[in-house]
Amino acid sequence: MHEATLAENILEIAFEAARQNHAKKIFKVGLTLGEMAGVEVEALNLSFDVLKKNTPAEDAQLVIKRVPISAACNKCGKIFRLERYNFFCPECDGVLILQSGRELLVDFVDCE
Ligand SMILES: [Zn+2]
Repeated sequence: MHEATLAENILEIAFEAARQNHAKKIFKVGLTLGEMAGVEVEALNLSFDVLKKNTPAEDAQLVIKRVPISAACNKCGKIFRLERYNFFCPECDGVLILQSGRELLVDFVDCE
């Protein structure tokens, strides 16, 4: 994942939302980010802070909501929260199907 490209895309979405609302300033941009989306939050924040300079998002804050990785067993149906990706159920050896953790989307843009 290229954090700089991602930060650019997030800002594009924020600018578009600001245009639609005839807003001059962007205060906050909310992002939902799965733990498996492969994004380095620190690198993303750094890129965001650099790219927002001299734009309507100059004072904007990136608010990141992390989504944990969870998977459900296809045999016993139990849902597990995974620390790292694991393909088999620790209880019955069924196959785990990923339920969440890959999310990567802009939730909201707070602007005026
Ligand atoms: Zn199982």
